Amino acid sequence: MLALLAIIFLLFSLKFAWWLPSQSLSKTRIMMYHMIAHQIPNKKRSGLRVSPAMFEKQLKWFSDNNWSFIKMSELLEHETQEKVVAITFDDGYEDNYSEAFPLLKKYNACATLYLVIDRHQNDWSAKKKPKHNKGDLAKKSKLSDEQVEEMVTSGIFELGGHTYSHPFLPNLSTEDKEHEMIGSKSFLESKFNTNISSFAYPFGIYGSADVDIIKASNFISAVTTKEGVASSDSIYELKRIKASGKDNFLTFKLRVLKGFRGFI
Ligand SMILES: [Zn+2]
Repeated sequence: MLALLAIIFLLFSLKFAWWLPSQSLSKTRIMMYHMIAHQIPNKKRSGLRVSPAMFEKQLKWFSDNNWSFIKMSELLEHETQEKVVAITFDDGYEDNYSEAFPLLKKYNACATLYLVIDRHQNDWSAKKKPKHNKGDLAKKSKLSDEQVEEMVTSGIFELGGHTYSHPFLPNLSTEDKEHEMIGSKSFLESKFNTNISSFAYPFGIYGSADVDIIKASNFISAVTTKEGVASSDSIYELKRIKASGKDNFLTFKLRVLKGFRGFI
């Protein structure tokens, strides 16, 4: 019995890392979301799907606890301010319009959308691991250009670069990398008549050559999928806090405060 309790305690501790101190509240929390959607019945829970009810609960928590919502282009202006959160969405799923947009409006919040340009019928998960190609991602509805236009015009969303095709960067030549990273920036800027100042590395996989391309091309920040709070000394390799569909509300709060996702 005691041994069982000890094991449960150990697992709980590894999951929640309760003994770690909270990170300073003056470090901006950059939240990473993908879809605001329900889990698919009879399928393995997906971290990429945060339910609309959970997303609302999270926005309400930030709002009730006096966090300021910012877009990524405003990151440096708020460097020393406490309780600053930047909501980010990767890829461009349609539920960002149908589910997230109204909730962001309701809570007077804003967000940055790292939009893939060739996002329709594109199963980019196969670019990382070819055996992943089950076509699920290609079938998932993505945002139309008209929806993106409305989101940007509202002032609630700003766009960030996430390449044309969501490639696996280590496989590309320098020329192709520049096309994907710099080319997609100017494409989005002219298509949506907006300024693109932040970039998200596809799959969060990148090397120092990729960071150099981003630095040299008028981006002022870039985000990764590494877990943690933002730090101005790594503005081109910013950490984010993953809002996972596998987490309950307590885990979400611990992640936000500690900037850490636990060991298991
Ligand atoms: Zn992505």
